[in-house]
Amino acid sequence: MLTVFLTNCRIIDPYNHKDEIGSIYIKDGKIEGVGPDVPEPEQCPKLDLKGKWVSPGLIDIHCHLREPGEEYKETIDTGTMSAVAGGFTTICPMPNTKPPNDCAAITRFILDRARAVDRARVLPIAAITKGQKGEEITEFGDLISNGAVAFSDDGVPVKRANVMRLALEYSLNFDCVIISHSEELELAGNGVINEGKMSILLGLRGIPNAAEDIFVYRDIRLAETTNGRLHIAHVSTKEAVKIIREAKERGVKVTCETAPHYFSLTEDAVDGYNTLAKMNPPLRTEEDRLAIIEGLKDGTIDCIATDHAPHSILEKECEFERAANGIIGLETALPLGIELVRNGQLSPLKLISLFTKGPSMVLNLDFKGFKVGEIADLVIIDPEREFTVTPESLYSRSHNTPFLGRQLKGRAIATVYHGKCSFDLDGMLSSCERRS
Ligand SMILES: [Zn+2]
Repeated sequence: MLTVFLTNCRIIDPYNHKDEIGSIYIKDGKIEGVGPDVPEPEQCPKLDLKGKWVSPGLIDIHCHLREPGEEYKETIDTGTMSAVAGGFTTICPMPNTKPPNDCAAITRFILDRARAVDRARVLPIAAITKGQKGEEITEFGDLISNGAVAFSDDGVPVKRANVMRLALEYSLNFDCVIISHSEELELAGNGVINEGKMSILLGLRGIPNAAEDIFVYRDIRLAETTNGRLHIAHVSTKEAVKIIREAKERGVKVTCETAPHYFSLTEDAVDGYNTLAKMNPPLRTEEDRLAIIEGLKDGTIDCIATDHAPHSILEKECEFERAANGIIGLETALPLGIELVRNGQLSPLKLISLFTKGPSMVLNLDFKGFKVGEIADLVIIDPEREFTVTPESLYSRSHNTPFLGRQLKGRAIATVYHGKCSFDLDGMLSSCERRS
């Protein structure tokens, strides 16, 4: 367990609306003191963190860990390593594993693996329908009592509106969230990138914004009809932001997330048939990107989620049409978010809130931030640290990211999960830990 006096740090704690310079005293893994005037304890290792931020551990409510079934892409072991290297202490894997997480046995398997690794909190999201086939609703009660925290068929939409309606109605019994992968498949057709300038230029089939917007609206109407709690995954279009903003204004129980690539990149990234920038929903236009940033600023978008989607080189180094969708994101999310702070688009407190309190509220998780007596769960961030994204620098088993070769600024340098150090880039916490 960790015993250390972190001092001179910028404590950013959205749960308690704090952004102040101060100290955090951690003793045997527990927070003993936090704030601007915590007295320095005697005989305790001390770390001067001038210029660094200390935040509660980040939460990612949308990632793909590929275990069970595709361990050559990622495992719960490598995925949680990637998570803590990115500053995340809590991650929620989506159910589209092989087999999918649609029954208690799979949920328990994931949790058992996570417990054995013991590096970050893994909260599985279970499937809405059996086999993610969009027909028969799964056993919500059984899945929740075995540890599932929400339901989604992510990867595919729930095609039939009556099934989605039933899921939202059923969710009322358990007060849980239904997460929508919003995509009208007929309209998306065989599209592989955004429909517009780049699809014409490259001669590739496009996916119009409307394919996303129609299902965002459909699911919002169903949430309104049923009074169920709906969360929209990976929002990428300006119209979807508008539809969600209006729904929130009229009191619909809807929340949403975007992913860092939708506020950092546009469809231009696929130029040269770059399969590393192929994803679903596809990267959109500059107008969409700016609308996403507006949504983050005004609270329409509740949180940033990575949609970390590992794929092997074989699935990406092939012709564009055949390449798999998705990019890894756990280790680049925070640096890309910090870019918004540097550009003056978000305050540090707002950014950290989108990675902590925001996702916690979406899933009704019980996080309290920095409070005396709580087990330490935090990340130390150096907003000035520069690094180049290379396959060697990544902890994920897969390296499919369009940010390869990019120099990013700002990153997690140490992560503490459950009172223990689970990531320590510079080895600064190593002398502060006592094995117990
Ligand atoms: Zn999805």
